[in-house]
Amino acid sequence: MTNDMMNIILFGPPGAGKGTQAKFLIEKFFIPQISTGDILRENRKKGTELGKEAEKYMESGELVPADLINRMVEKRLSQSDCESGFILDGYPRNTEQAIYLDDILKRLNRKLKAVISLVVDDEKLIKRLSGRRICKQCGISYHVIFNPSKQEGICDSCGGELYTRSDDQESTVKNRLRVYHEQTSTVIEFYRNKNILFEVDGNGSVDEVRSRILEVLK
Ligand code: AMP
Repeated sequence: MTNDMMNIILFGPPGAGKGTQAKFLIEKFFIPQISTGDILRENRKKGTELGKEAEKYMESGELVPADLINRMVEKRLSQSDCESGFILDGYPRNTEQAIYLDDILKRLNRKLKAVISLVVDDEKLIKRLSGRRICKQCGISYHVIFNPSKQEGICDSCGGELYTRSDDQESTVKNRLRVYHEQTSTVIEFYRNKNILFEVDGNGSVDEVRSRILEVLK
């Protein structure tokens, strides 16, 4: 697979490791990660209209309305750094978004290469999310037990302060997983029918999962 064809979707429930694996793929293939969750959080931080509208949905773990998300993704995918490929993380999350993405890609004359679906048990996801800590500055993700920073509360990479996402508390996590199972699993079938779905075991260490993903992208 050559670089200009690297149009990838990283798919999976919250806590499956999409963000962590995306960071590695960015460096390997020189393509941007487009995380709808990150873009929304950035908008909330800046206090934009989009950020304000998204806030209540995000705090309860519900999906932000499709028209807001779809427009946001179209704008991002039209930027020149996506021309040699991209990694979509957290989008599409339901069939409506998947169909809209097809339309965007048609308009941009692009094709999806692979949808990598990371599969992890719910019990493990809850453990992963409740211990997750994220750097305020560079966005790198840690885990208090499985992947701790050298100095508590401080990012190894940039020295930034680590924080817990407000939607990583257990009650919200459970709702996010419910929403995932209800709305998102239909997307799997959508891409299975297009023969571009690759299910990858997301259990195990970051390195193990990374090797499985690279095997698929070979
Ligand atoms: P994430 O960082 O991907 O776990 O997303 C955090 C939250 O942002 C989700 O619980 C949703 O409220 C919202 N969000 C992110 N991506 C989408 C999407 N594609 N469609 C709707 N809502 C989204």
